[in-house]
Amino acid sequence: MTNYEELANLLFSQIDKTPEYYEELYPPRQLKEDARVTRFAPSPTGFLHFGNLFTCAVAYTTARQSGGVFYVRVEDTDSKRKVDSAVSSMLKSLSDYGINADEGVVAEDKEIGDYGPYRQSERKEIYQTYAKRLVEQGLAYPCFCSAEELEKIREQQQNEDIKGYYGKYAKCRNLSLEQVKANIDTGMPWTLRLRSPGDMNKKCRFDDIIKGKIEMPENVIDVVLLKTDGIPTYHFAHAIDDHLMRTTHIFRGDEWIASVALHLQLFRVLGFKQPKYAHIAPIMKEENGGKRKLSKRKDPEAAVTYYTEQGYPKDSVNEYIMTIANSNFEDWRRANKDAPIGDFPFNPKKMSVSGTLFDIAKLSDVSKNVISKMKAEEVYSQSYEWAKEYNTPLAELYEKDTDYITAILNIDRENKKTRKDITKWSDIPDYLSYMYDETFVSCYDLTGNADPALAVNVLEKYKDIFDINDDKEHWFDRMKAICPDCGCTPNVKEYKQNPEAFKGHIGDVSTVIRVALTGRTNTPDLFFITALLGEERVSKRLNLALEHYKSV
Ligand code: GLU
Repeated sequence: MTNYEELANLLFSQIDKTPEYYEELYPPRQLKEDARVTRFAPSPTGFLHFGNLFTCAVAYTTARQSGGVFYVRVEDTDSKRKVDSAVSSMLKSLSDYGINADEGVVAEDKEIGDYGPYRQSERKEIYQTYAKRLVEQGLAYPCFCSAEELEKIREQQQNEDIKGYYGKYAKCRNLSLEQVKANIDTGMPWTLRLRSPGDMNKKCRFDDIIKGKIEMPENVIDVVLLKTDGIPTYHFAHAIDDHLMRTTHIFRGDEWIASVALHLQLFRVLGFKQPKYAHIAPIMKEENGGKRKLSKRKDPEAAVTYYTEQGYPKDSVNEYIMTIANSNFEDWRRANKDAPIGDFPFNPKKMSVSGTLFDIAKLSDVSKNVISKMKAEEVYSQSYEWAKEYNTPLAELYEKDTDYITAILNIDRENKKTRKDITKWSDIPDYLSYMYDETFVSCYDLTGNADPALAVNVLEKYKDIFDINDDKEHWFDRMKAICPDCGCTPNVKEYKQNPEAFKGHIGDVSTVIRVALTGRTNTPDLFFITALLGEERVSKRLNLALEHYKSV
């Protein structure tokens, strides 16, 4: 069939624009030479997988560091998968972690930028304009095969190396214009297929930014470009959209890597410049000595909302993402303790080829460090924002006495030995619990040389001499002063030289007091805790503890 132009007009009579029109409408971006244009292209399911956030963070950082553009395009051609307010919840998850697009879909009903519409469902005419051109050039044709016929082809191909619609199996490839007209007249549905120019003996070679040099057979399949409803497949939409939106670097999951031969062929037949690909391996999880993909179904931590609900600060998650994205990040961080994360020279070439391992214990470590470096006011404001949304009792506690909470959160902050008690905001209720009578839970278990007999001795003496108005030095002197009367030494060194001579040392004495006041053997600075608890609470708890130890 040679009259391709007539065929194109028959199939796309409603299309009156040309590819040239769109090329002019969406000209190449005026950016500096090395600027990278990257994008996030979610299907609007409403669920943001940690892997999506990871991919996004990498694409976003690449655009930022090169002075480029990061945009969001919504791939909503599959109406079965559409979910109400899915876009806004996905965008919210991104912005919770500091990723705000420069362009594209920025809210459920808002787009910004000159390269839109950024929703595929609104780009039908654009896809069809390019489809029409391919038909005119003999590079695409309508296919009338039914699902049953396609199934039959699959059955016949059981022993073929290459499966799909090609060669002798491509029944509609050479239909005459008359046959096409007749089929259309009878109302037969049709899909539009690529007339693949591929040669199965030739290789497609490309250089993936992450995976390196890759070689695969050329595509020979006449893939579907438009479905029966005129909506494009992912492959066709990818080529048109990433070209017209002038994407330079495509960061996406490596489940697409096998399709690159097809994608590059599409860019070629459409006359588009080829983009660079960076295929990201999935996030893996260790299980029973093996590895498997972090799964939406099995792992709560697969959902980005998990981190928000648990109250991992955005900086912690971002630090962790960089830790697993580039193995030299941790060395850089050690050398640049206070530098903003954006200063890290991220390099996509250094990303894992085979599958990044997710480790929540590592995230917790990173997060403890991040929180330990924050000022009390920052801990206060971030955790208060979190509490308002996820923990009302905590938010109420914050509102009751802001100064008290800030003072507690300030204990051991901004000094050399910062403690790392808080991993995420949901740890705070437990962290604060002994500072309030309502939540204090006594526990009189002791460690070291401290035992109930020593505890009775220490508490009896301490309750009479402690003075809430002491400064730190006097407070400590008082504890030391009761040591000899309790058979202990205030000097740990002396104890170590001659342990038999003593029942314990100053550390054991303070353990007794710490346990009585907090129910714990390990806490931030006991002096500040004591001072904040106040005289009444302190003497009540000392007496209660004393009663307990006397009774055992
Ligand atoms: N909508 C596609 C997906 O969610 C996007 C892939 C891509 O980034 O090109 O898998």
